[in-house]
Parts: sequence; C-alpha cells; structure tokens
Amino acid sequence: MNQQGHMASYGQPQSGYQGYQQFGYNSQHTAGVPTSQYGPYNGPVQGYQPTAVPQGPLRTAAGAPPTSLPLSTAAQSTAYNQYGQGDVQNGPAMSDQLQRFPVSQPYMPGSHPMPYQQYAPLPNNTQQLPNQMAAMQISGSTSNAPPPPASQSYGPPTSHHQTTTSFPLTGPASYTQYPTPLQNIPSSVPQSGNPPQHPFPGQPVPVSTFTSSPTSTGLTGSTLLPPSGVPRPPVMHGPPLSGQPQAGLPPSQHPTGHYPPQLNHRPAGLQSGMPGVVTGPPAQGFQAHPSQPSQGLAPQQNGSFGQVRSPQPNFAAPYTGAPSYPSQPQPQQKRLDPDSIPSPIQVIEDDKSNRGTEPFSTGVRGQVPPLVTTDFVVKDQGNSSPRFIRCAAYNLPCTSDMAKQCQVPLTAVIKPLATLPADEAPPYIVDHGETGPIRCNRCKAYMCPYMQFIEGGRKFQCAFCSCVTEVLPHYFQHLDHTGKRMDCYDRPELSLGSYEFLATVDYCKNNKIPNPPAFIFMIDVSYNALKSGLVQLLCEELKTLLDYLPREGNAEESAIRVGFVTYNKVLHFYNVKSSLAQPQMMVVSDITDMFVPLLDGFLVNINESRAVINSLLEQIPEMFADTRETETVFGPVIQAGLEALKAAECAGKLFIFHSTLPLAEAPGKLKNRDDKKLINTDKEKVLFQPQTSFYNNLAKECVAQGCCVDLFLFPNQYVDVATLGLVTYQTGGSIYKYTFFQAQVDGDRFLNDLHRDVRKVIGFDAVMRVRTSTGIRATDFFGSFYMSNTTDVELAALDCDKAITVEFKHDDKLSEDVGAQIQCALLYTSCSGQRRLRIHNLSLNCCTQLADLYRNCETDTLINYFVKLAYRGVLSNPTKTVRDNLINQSAQILACYRKNCASPSSAGQLILPECMKLLPVYLNCVLKSDVLQPGTEISTDDRAYIRQLVTSMDVAETNVFFYPRLLPVHKMDVDSDDFPVAIRCSEERLSKGGIYLLENGLNLFIWVGMNTQHDLIQSIFNVQSFGQIDSAMTALPMLDNPCSKKLRSMVDMIRAQRPRFMKLMIVKQDDKMELLFKHFLMEDKSVNGGASYVDFLCHMHKEIRQLLS
Ligand SMILES: [Zn+2]
Repeated sequence: MNQQGHMASYGQPQSGYQGYQQFGYNSQHTAGVPTSQYGPYNGPVQGYQPTAVPQGPLRTAAGAPPTSLPLSTAAQSTAYNQYGQGDVQNGPAMSDQLQRFPVSQPYMPGSHPMPYQQYAPLPNNTQQLPNQMAAMQISGSTSNAPPPPASQSYGPPTSHHQTTTSFPLTGPASYTQYPTPLQNIPSSVPQSGNPPQHPFPGQPVPVSTFTSSPTSTGLTGSTLLPPSGVPRPPVMHGPPLSGQPQAGLPPSQHPTGHYPPQLNHRPAGLQSGMPGVVTGPPAQGFQAHPSQPSQGLAPQQNGSFGQVRSPQPNFAAPYTGAPSYPSQPQPQQKRLDPDSIPSPIQVIEDDKSNRGTEPFSTGVRGQVPPLVTTDFVVKDQGNSSPRFIRCAAYNLPCTSDMAKQCQVPLTAVIKPLATLPADEAPPYIVDHGETGPIRCNRCKAYMCPYMQFIEGGRKFQCAFCSCVTEVLPHYFQHLDHTGKRMDCYDRPELSLGSYEFLATVDYCKNNKIPNPPAFIFMIDVSYNALKSGLVQLLCEELKTLLDYLPREGNAEESAIRVGFVTYNKVLHFYNVKSSLAQPQMMVVSDITDMFVPLLDGFLVNINESRAVINSLLEQIPEMFADTRETETVFGPVIQAGLEALKAAECAGKLFIFHSTLPLAEAPGKLKNRDDKKLINTDKEKVLFQPQTSFYNNLAKECVAQGCCVDLFLFPNQYVDVATLGLVTYQTGGSIYKYTFFQAQVDGDRFLNDLHRDVRKVIGFDAVMRVRTSTGIRATDFFGSFYMSNTTDVELAALDCDKAITVEFKHDDKLSEDVGAQIQCALLYTSCSGQRRLRIHNLSLNCCTQLADLYRNCETDTLINYFVKLAYRGVLSNPTKTVRDNLINQSAQILACYRKNCASPSSAGQLILPECMKLLPVYLNCVLKSDVLQPGTEISTDDRAYIRQLVTSMDVAETNVFFYPRLLPVHKMDVDSDDFPVAIRCSEERLSKGGIYLLENGLNLFIWVGMNTQHDLIQSIFNVQSFGQIDSAMTALPMLDNPCSKKLRSMVDMIRAQRPRFMKLMIVKQDDKMELLFKHFLMEDKSVNGGASYVDFLCHMHKEIRQLLS
C-alpha cells in the first residue's frame, strides 16, 4: 500500500466532510426565506441542533396531535404485488472480483484464480480459545499500526468541462432559416477534442436539422418547446439505419427476431465500411429526406450527414439518402458510421454547455432538469431538487390508454437523504411543536406548497385528494390578494420542495421517544480472516475510526453507542464497560437459540470506554492469531446483533466482517450450491435466489427492530452472496466485497469504504410513503428495503447513498390544468435519536399529446428503472426472457414515437425522440451487463453482488456504471481544474500514443498506449519507457510536476464523487489485463457475445420496423 501521503487526514476531525458539518443554515439561503424563521439548523441531517428549539412562527404550541401515525394509515389498495410478505427481492451483484484480479491474479477468462488454496483450511478443530478470559487480561500489546486509509474527501461531485461545442438547442424556428440543403452538418467529433465545426458560423444550428419534416405532425417550432421553456430540442430524427436486412448487416448475421445478434464484424470494421450509411451529427437526428422538401422545413438532403470527422479525414462517403433504403437495395456490408449515430459524449457535453451555467430553479412545474452528468446549482423554489427526485417523464400522459400506448414507464428515482453540494442549503427543519406537522385530514399528505388555502385562510384543500381540512388556530394566517398566505415565504413547508418536520411522540414506535442508535462491530476471527491480515487491520483502524461516528449538528460527541463481537463457530461478546480495567469476554457456544449474555457493558459510549475498547482492539488480533478454526456461522451473528439492539431498545447497524461460506452447524447454515452450468438455462434464476428462507425471516425481524446490516465480505471462494446479502438488502444496508483480500494490497480500498460507511449520514427505523394526486399512484418500488404492505417502504435504515425507484400507474384520468403531484415522506430516527419527517414534493405536467411526453423525458432515469426492473426479473425468469422484454418495451416506446409524433417518412429511417436518442446505446449496455449476459470469467457471487449494488443506485451511479467515463489523460489541461472531455467507450477511439482513465463508479483504470511519448510516461510513472511501467502499482507515484499532480488530482476527485473507493489499476496496451479493461468499452462487441452499439442500433431499428408494419 502506498499510504504515506494520506496519513494526516484522519487525525483531523471531519476533514473528509468538507465542511458539511459546519454548514450553517445561514449560508446559501433560498431567496425570500428569512433564515431567522427557521430553527437553528446546522447542516444536513446531522445538522440539527436539538437543544435550540426554533422560536417564532414555526413554533406554535397547542393543537391536536396527528390523528394517526404518519406513514401507515392510508388505505390504498394498489396493484403492487411484487414483494410478497418478505419475499426476497434482490440479489446480489458484483464487481469486486474484477477489481481484484489485476493485482494478485491475472484476469483470464475462464480461469478463476484459486487463491483459496493459499489459505488451505487447516485441520478443523473445535478448540475454543483456551485462555479466553486470560487473554483478555493481556495488555499493553502493541501493534504496528496499519497505515491509515487515504484521506478522501466526500465532497460534492464536481464536474467540469465547458464545452464550446454547441448545438444550441434552438427551437424549430430555425427550420425555416436554412432552406437550402444542409451539407455536411457538422457534429462535433467527441473524441477528437476539436470543437465541433459549425456549418453556418455564427448561426445557431437547429438541433433537429436532420429530421425530416416534423411539421407534418404539427411539431413546428414553438410547439416543440416544452411548456416550461426548457430548451429541450424537440424531436429528433435518426438517420436511416442500416438495420434493415439490406442495409447494415447481412441477413444471415441478423437472425430475425433474435437478439443478441451475434454479429461477427468487429467494431473496427465500422470504420471502413461506412459507405452508404447515414452519418449524422451525433447529437441529432440523422436522416434527411432529400425528396421531401416539405412544409417549409429545410429540405434535408442526401449526404447531409457527412460530418467533420477529424480522426478519419478520408471519410467522405456521402450518405445516399433515404431512397436507397428499404426500396432500393443497398450494397451489402455497409456499415453504420459510429460517428453518425447518437453519441453519449455529445449529449453530455451539449447539456453541460447549455444547462450547466445557469442555476436550475425548481419553481416551474414539469421542468426537466439538467442531466446528472452536468454540474449545476439547484434553487429550491417549490419543487424538490433533482438530487432528491428524478423522473423518467416530466409530462405524464393524461390517460392510462396513452400510457399503455407509449409504454414509457412513469417512474421516479428518489434519494431522500441525498447529500447536497456545499453551496446548496440542506432542507430546513420545521417544528410545529406538540401538534406535529400539518396534514390533510383524509389522505394524511403533509403541508406543502401545493395545498390551496381557501375561505380566507381558514381551510385548505388537499392537492392530493381534494379533501378540505380546517386550519388549526395556531396555524392560521391571512391570505393576500392572490390567495397566497401572507407568511408563505416564511415557511419552508409553504414555499419549498424539500424540508423536514420534527416528529412528535405520535410518530414514534410504541409512542416512546427512541433511544439513540447503536453500532455493533462483528468480526470474523476464523483462520482466513486472520491470515489475510483483515483482523489486524480492522482492529487497528477502529481505534481511530470510532471518533468519527455520525454526530448531530454541532454536538461534541456522537450519541451512538458501540459494541463488539467476534466469532467463528461460536460467538464472543465483550464487556467494555468503562469501569473495567480490562475488557471481558463471554463466549456463547450454543448458537441454536441466540441470546446476549450481557446487557450492561456491551453497548457503551465510546469516550467513556475508550481505554477498555482500545485494549480490546489490541488484544483481539493476538488472541486469535494462532486460530485454526476455519468454520464460521453467519445467521447467529445477525441474530446476536438483533437481540442486543432489542435488549437495548434501540435501532442500529451491524457491521459484519465475514470471510467464508457459513458451513458450521447452526441456523442459517449454507452449502456450496454454485453451478455455472445453470447459466443460460431456465434454472439460472436459482443462482440469484437465497438457498434458504431462514434469512428472509431474519430480515423481517431486523426491519421490525430497525436493525440494519452492513456486510463486508472477504471471500476466497464462493460464499453465496445471493443468500448472505439478503438481510443486508432488505434492511437497507450496504454490501462490500473484497475477493482474495490481502491487507497489503486491498487495505486501502477497504479502509476507505469502511470510513465512509461508518461516517455517512443515515436515518434509522424509517418508513417511506409516496403519495400522489388523484389519477396516478405508486404501484411498484425498487431498492434495498422491505415491504409488508403495498404502500409503505420499510427501511431498518436509509443512508445518503441509497435511492429507491418508484413506478406510477394511472388509476384515473389526469388533467393538463392540474398536473400531477408527488409527495415522498420519509419518517426516520436521526443519529441522535430524534424522530423526523423528511418531505419531498414534485409537481409534473400532464399531456394529451404524446409528443409532449416524448419531449420531456429523461433517458438516464428511464435506464435506472429498466436496470432495476431487469435485475429483479432475473429472480424469476431466464435472463434471455428478461433481455427480450427490455428490448420489446424499448422498441415499443420508440415505435410509438415514430408512429405518432414523427412525420411520415421512409420506413428505412430510424427516428428517435431527441430526449431518448441514447436509449439504444444505454439499453445495450444494460443488456450485456454481467448480470444479464455473463461471460465465463464472472463468478456467480460477483453477479449477485453487482445485482444487489445496482438495486439501490441513483441515476448518476447507474449512468456511469453502465456507460463508463473514459478520459483522455494526454489531453488534460494542467492549468485548468476541468477534466478533459470524455471520449466514447470504444477501442477505436483509443490512440496508441495516448493515456486514458476509465471509471464506472466501481472500477478505475489507467490505460497506457504503447506509443505514448516518453516524457509523458516519465512525468506520470517516473520511468523512462512504456516497458518499464509497473502494471502492478495501485497508486501513481507522487511526482512534482504538473502532469503528475493533475492526474492524481483527477483520480482523487473522481474517487470523491463515488460512494465506493475505486482501486486504481494500470493497464498497458496489449497486456493481459487489457481484456478486463476492454470489458468496459461498452460500444464494442463484447467477448460474451454482447452486441456492439452499431449492431444493436440496427437491431432496434429492425424491431421498431416490425412493430410498425
Ligand atoms: Zn389529502
């Protein structure tokens, strides 16, 4: 490990949080909201200072308490039926294995590293620490402190790039401005780094330049603009794709109706074979209809897709236009020009330049926010920030018939406790005193900006159910001439999209104010855990890490109590009461009916018991250093933690550090049931299902107690992540996996993850309810949680990284006038034991024209939903069925657009809605992901692991996970804070003379081309030539030159943006590790048989044509 540079950081309180803790409510205030009106609020979540109760208007005493518990009352019957009582819904997913290989094992498809042998099980024995108690008395052991983890700033994501590129998304008006055929409409060529060329310098290029007459459908200029004025380009028309048999692919390679088309041409071939194919500016549509100079639109014309392709100067083959399409046979083997199809990079860069400069104000209903890849500031003016809620559609179809017709899922991704950047105010806390939050009498929706006050302010009408509720005297306020309450802007709940209410005792379990939560550290001390160095590393780290437990606001110390357990086949509890001179161990060897052998002294305040705890942490590695015990239990470990929390009457989190399949005789014992032969069979789903119902039942109990389980796995072989991860999944916990863990190599990543996990903002014993206005309702939920009915999302805990995807369905008609309102309420216990409600509100538009829907969609969110739907689907269906379903639904979405919103045109044209032009490329990434289309190199556990991770990802995470970010390091500007503009994920975009950084949120690579200039290699790697670069390094050398500094800073910033620490891997061109790297070049054909982007686009086009015919 290369830690020197990082040592300092943990010694300084809160260094990692970049001032979030200090963030006073006075900074960054929403305009119009006087800060003094709100209770003292010192930061996000943790920031509330419990002692100072707000005075003033927000604080009013007296009044009736809520008539019912908040989130559990409404009696809605929904169609929701996904989660049977506690049935498992998730599984696991993976990825670590990949990360790990580089270092200790060559990653070779089909050859699994077999490090397990290194730790060959020793003779089994049942020896029980002969001198347990005695050992505890040993003191003064010193250990070499493992290096502290790298400092990591968990600061807000930053993103950069001002691109000058631009297709100013001008409205349709521009259609008429260029009556002449457009020649060579330039599209920027993303990978070249050159600014896109502009055909008409000085004039805006209409986004839809390549579309064929949208006017015929009435989608002319102004109508194309979303009502909100968001400059989203209207429709986009694609270039005729060569998808039809006669175009792109030889029919023989394109089995009808079957995806994946195992096309056998390599991406590289695309370069040469592009004659005849449409090329269009990546950003927009493609096709031109030469023969259709219709309706005042600029006639498109042949060849208009030719574009500037700097990397391929010779490319000039003009597209021959639509005529050659279905009707005229085109020469076989024509290839689509990859530069002519929609480019993710172009879309991302365009959005940055168009929308990254102005703050996004949420005052307008149905406004589509900037993309997650754009760095923008949010101003809450009555709707929740997109950091909390993002929707796939911001303009919902008014009727269920329309919704069925278009097949666009109405879905929102909600991240209730999302971390905000330092320059955005965290949600204010509103305290209504003993009466608690103001709510609708009928549906129990919380007071929000959508409620209409009537009768002079004496009553309000609910925006969700229309019921009229009397305003309690203490909450009364006069209305102004517009009908608005005079105090509207003084109250967060009347003027903001997101805020919190202090909950009263009525919102607490058993009507009792909760105790502060507890953290219990449960450490596997079997042979493998000791041998790998895990136990030593962990115990050493905990001594300092415990100083960083989450604190409330400016509280001096954390209210969270801690406890310790170690285990192998039996459990060891520790009494670390402050009055003891030495910790005491109590062994529970009868694990069939788990109990906690001590109450007093198990859960303690860290500061009071510090000496005893430190002594314990020093002794644990020594006590077990010579262990020969290889068997472990797992179920009883969770049970023990659960029982301890029950006994202490509190919620909390178990941190379980576990290394092996629990084979020891005990409840929850597992067997090795891994069977790769099941892949691609109808039985494949079994691999994702838990092998016993034991953990389902245990999860249910944990949720009831508010016991969240975080699982850190250190396996050397199959451990059945699908089963072990179940409780973690259902309790809102996090899972981490460090395959073939060795402290020396992987310690850095583990400790960084652990630090972040322990410190992050978290709410316990939570219930989330999503209410909607009449006409739609939430019918399905995806994420890490438990549901015992159809409406309440139960979370033993919810942290700032977890997102929940919600699907809505119609149950009535919606109206364009009223729109649709969503209110998400999360009731939770803060880290100090305070009961709170976090409220997020969002209002959407509704439409009677499908074109409006297609104009206000967000593909990134749509993909987030599709992934989660698919990853749940593998529990009950063969992966092929799941893939086919995804393709079908996507094809229907695009076909419906084509049929209803695009102008009539040749069937040979692929026409995509502007907002969804990346749907095919992103969908393809999902389809060929390791869960849905595994290669031989991926383990069953890793698939289960990935699956579980993705289930709680937000939109930004799924976006980069499925389409990684690939940055040309050799083009970075050392004088700028910006990153170089990313390039598309394809091998053909890589230059042999370049160095590239690739990251997807879990993996981080630096790829070095073999012709890279020596001075660049020298300045980054401190060696003279390509051949001397050590690909085993996991950290870049700290060199004092601008290049080295800039690159290391980029790596640090990227890591800081992601919830998990990414270990750096160096990949040299043509090295064996390159195969792993290429796995992430998502536009290329994959070795598993996953289609290239070009081929898949052709396939999608064919699917769409079939639907239309
Ligand atoms: Zn209501």
